[in-house]
Amino acid sequence: MVDARDYQVKRIKNFEDGFLNEVLRVMKRIGKYLDKFDGLPLIGDEENFGQKRSSGNFSFHGAMFDKQLRGFFMTASKVKKSNPSKDNIVYVEKVDHSSRIIHLAGIGKPSRGLFIHHQIYKDFPEIKVIIHTHDNKILELKNIPITKSVFVGASMKHAKEVVDLLKLSGRTYINLRSHGQLAISTTVDDVLKQAKKYNLEAQRKQ
Ligand SMILES: [Zn+2]
Repeated sequence: MVDARDYQVKRIKNFEDGFLNEVLRVMKRIGKYLDKFDGLPLIGDEENFGQKRSSGNFSFHGAMFDKQLRGFFMTASKVKKSNPSKDNIVYVEKVDHSSRIIHLAGIGKPSRGLFIHHQIYKDFPEIKVIIHTHDNKILELKNIPITKSVFVGASMKHAKEVVDLLKLSGRTYINLRSHGQLAISTTVDDVLKQAKKYNLEAQRKQ
């Protein structure tokens, strides 16, 4: 199934360094916090044999920094998400599904989960932050809505299923079957609070 890595990338002009530093501060805060709760476990990289990279991803809307911005900042593919650098951030300005082009600032590659983030921001205009973690303990919690499909990729079909489940359940934290979690919020503080809450709950149940 087609995901963001199958689209062409059109690079747009990147932001000024000073502005990117502000963005990076928020990125690092989320990465370090999720790492503390084992939300971004290291996994083997099949394309770079022997290398380890942190799984999961996260993003926040550009409007958090500048009301004019319509796109979102996201961790790039195959980077150290627990402590990202400026080069590990991409800004997704636009996803054109008809021509299969992603308009992107930054030097990184688009993350596999990009369609899911893009679709959530489109369907939930109030949402400003999205995190995706890989925590097997939380997958076992029965009080969290879970997708019907097993998530092996992040195609548009998956993106639509995620959006439907969020809408139908009215919840802001869901499990992706046999894969991980997704949390959405209007603020960084709240999204991290949700990650911590379910991590502690899962630990207590063990
Ligand atoms: Zn994942």
